Amino acid sequence: MDPLTPSQRSRNMAAIKSVNTAPEMIVRRIVHGMGFRYRLHVRALPGTPDLVFVSRRRIIEVRGCFWHLHGCKKSTIPVTRANFWRAKLKGNARRDERMIRVLRRMGWRVLVIWQCQTVPSRRELLERRLLRFLE
Ligand SMILES: [Zn+2]
Repeated sequence: MDPLTPSQRSRNMAAIKSVNTAPEMIVRRIVHGMGFRYRLHVRALPGTPDLVFVSRRRIIEVRGCFWHLHGCKKSTIPVTRANFWRAKLKGNARRDERMIRVLRRMGWRVLVIWQCQTVPSRRELLERRLLRFLE
């Protein structure tokens, strides 16, 4: 069903998923500070999820608003080569949704944190959401 070979797919995913981004580091620092322990970028799971809490069967994905087409004001499609970007970014968003469906079917609970939700002014809200999800 998937037209890509595994090596093509992993190259593709590597291009889309930039690891250790600033928003991801913010989320990692918060949950670590709350005492939760996790595994990072688990390749054995579909889509190589960012933070995996194995015994709690929970996953946190941290996404850049532009690359994953959040729909907020950070995620506008560039004017130059708009068609190219629209197709590319929509493709990313579709793949994200597919991965989440697969993970949920496998019994994982998945929380998506967007880049724009990690800014300092929203920190308190972010902490509450993370705690509620992980407890
Ligand atoms: Zn956003």
